[in-house]
Amino acid sequence: MRIIGTIDEMRAAVRTARAAGQTVGLVPTMGAFHEGHLSLMRRARAASDLVVVSLFVNPTQFGQNEDLSSYPRDEARDAALAENEGVDILFAPEAAEIYPDGFATSIHVSGITDVLDGASRGAFHFDGVATVVTKLFGIVAPDVAYFGQKDAQQILVVRRVVADLNLEVRIEACPIVREADGLAMSSRNVYLDPAARQQATALNRALDAAAAVRGSGERDGERILDAARRVLADADITPEYLELRDVLTLNTVTRVESDALLAVAARVGAARLIDNHILKGDV
Ligand code: AMP
Repeated sequence: MRIIGTIDEMRAAVRTARAAGQTVGLVPTMGAFHEGHLSLMRRARAASDLVVVSLFVNPTQFGQNEDLSSYPRDEARDAALAENEGVDILFAPEAAEIYPDGFATSIHVSGITDVLDGASRGAFHFDGVATVVTKLFGIVAPDVAYFGQKDAQQILVVRRVVADLNLEVRIEACPIVREADGLAMSSRNVYLDPAARQQATALNRALDAAAAVRGSGERDGERILDAARRVLADADITPEYLELRDVLTLNTVTRVESDALLAVAARVGAARLIDNHILKGDV
């Protein structure tokens, strides 16, 4: 596996692969790899000739009071894990390589970024995500890019950018990988002390409880949400949001008649965690 830090070198490697008729798969990440990241790498490895994993803790998607400076970083460990998955290139640029002096462009997706994490964290977050992902697509020119359903809104934002800017890349959404007790894997789980780690299991349990109510045939959004609210309250968690939204438009859903995204964000201990389930419209 090659570790590449410059855009020029990255482009040259892709050019060589393309000249040999190879397909290119990209897995964008911020590092601190866990099984969720590795599952995306495996999907890419199975489908593409050249597998590129980008490792870039993107400063523009973090707010002033967020965890940019404390975000877990261990490039040597990440490189070993990626190599073990058969990744061909780890693209790990410095911030100045991606955002040189004079950088002045931002990609803003309107509408779907006004809710959930866009409202809770602020508009800068998805502007930062959309801008860096568009840059990575420009640098790596992948045939396919892999994203986790854990960040469901992020996938919708990336798909919107790809459609609106006519980018030639296919976006593949990959299922959420969970710990044995259901907690969605996240690089931020390392912030959890043992008590908070236990408390955090309530997020997925809350989504499960709501899904069970939906599974029994209930369509009323408030009744479905109430089941989740009870589990969170029992665990002493006050969510930043707990909402049912249309899986494509992110419009509010009051009755589940088609597939709906049940999404939650909450501070648990020192971490801000997110999770989601898709509730089927046709149960
Ligand atoms: P991150 O490094 O947190 O920016 O995540 C990089 C990619 O991995 C994103 O597409 C995430 O959605 C995805 N990802 C993060 N956690 C999980 C998980 N538990 N299961 C599946 N994919 C995940």
